Amino acid sequence: MADTGTLARIGIDLGGTKIAGAVLDEASIIVEEHRLATPREDYAATLTAIAELVSRLDPGGCLPVGIGTPGSVIPGSGRMHNCNSTWLNGQPLLADLTERLGGRVRIANDADCFALSEAHGGSGAGVSSVFGVILGTGVGGGIVIDGSLLSGPGGLAGEWGHNPLPEFQDPACTALNPVLRSRQCYCGQLNCIETFLSGPGLALTHQQLWGEWATAEVIYRQAAGTVFEWDPDLRVVNSAVQAQSTLSVYCRMLVLGLAQIVNVLDPQVIVLGGGLSKMQTIYEPVQNALSERVFGGRGVTRLRAPVFGDAGGVRGAAWLWDKPRLMQRDIEKDN
Ligand SMILES: [Zn+2]
Repeated sequence: MADTGTLARIGIDLGGTKIAGAVLDEASIIVEEHRLATPREDYAATLTAIAELVSRLDPGGCLPVGIGTPGSVIPGSGRMHNCNSTWLNGQPLLADLTERLGGRVRIANDADCFALSEAHGGSGAGVSSVFGVILGTGVGGGIVIDGSLLSGPGGLAGEWGHNPLPEFQDPACTALNPVLRSRQCYCGQLNCIETFLSGPGLALTHQQLWGEWATAEVIYRQAAGTVFEWDPDLRVVNSAVQAQSTLSVYCRMLVLGLAQIVNVLDPQVIVLGGGLSKMQTIYEPVQNALSERVFGGRGVTRLRAPVFGDAGGVRGAAWLWDKPRLMQRDIEKDN
């Protein structure tokens, strides 16, 4: 979708360790930025910090404010849930911020904000359908159609990370079943995609395959410079080969998970975000295998790396106000 520019607005990325904020001008250029440490475990102080940050960015107090948060709002209650910043859970975040800042606040899940950011001037620019994926501490997703966030009555659109991973139906993964045991997700379900494709999920896969703990970053660095090929034998040769094999399994799981998205949504672009999206070597093999794995074997969905790094959160939050007349995700009214 072409970026035509819109009103000046503020984007806030409420993270577990920092709260980043920025002002985007009418041309959607970041013209001012500030950040504060997140007051961990303290909800009241978090509200105060957000209000202070907004005041610093906009002393006049008139710009609309979009906020990207972990977790999401429970439909019908206005209260937050599924936040890994657990002190937000159960709190009426939007209502409390509206009380402090006035009715100029919109909030959305951080994966939704990532997808919005990439759809506007990022890797999803110029296309009508974008699925944004966060592969980080958790796994989330957001769907942007014609520049606007897709949202439903349950606030679940894009929550791809809590679909079950179809690994046990795949011949390439079946051989691993005795090693890769079922995983319990914090959400209550078994074998959610998040439990395999998050950073901790990748680390657990490596540990179950090789009996060795390593972070996702270390696994990737160990495998750097090697070629990703599926190796059904998975023989132990050295740590680089082990890491390569782990990443090969990870890529296969990513293909299986994303193929479900393509068969339902057929997006023009899938953009990867989060820490694991920095694994540059996974894009080509996943792209090739994904195109073959979808129905008919000729998928055309493009898999892309993100354009905006750390700025994606604040940009996407600001884009919650791209169409002020259309309440695309107006939780204030939904609840
Ligand atoms: Zn789950």
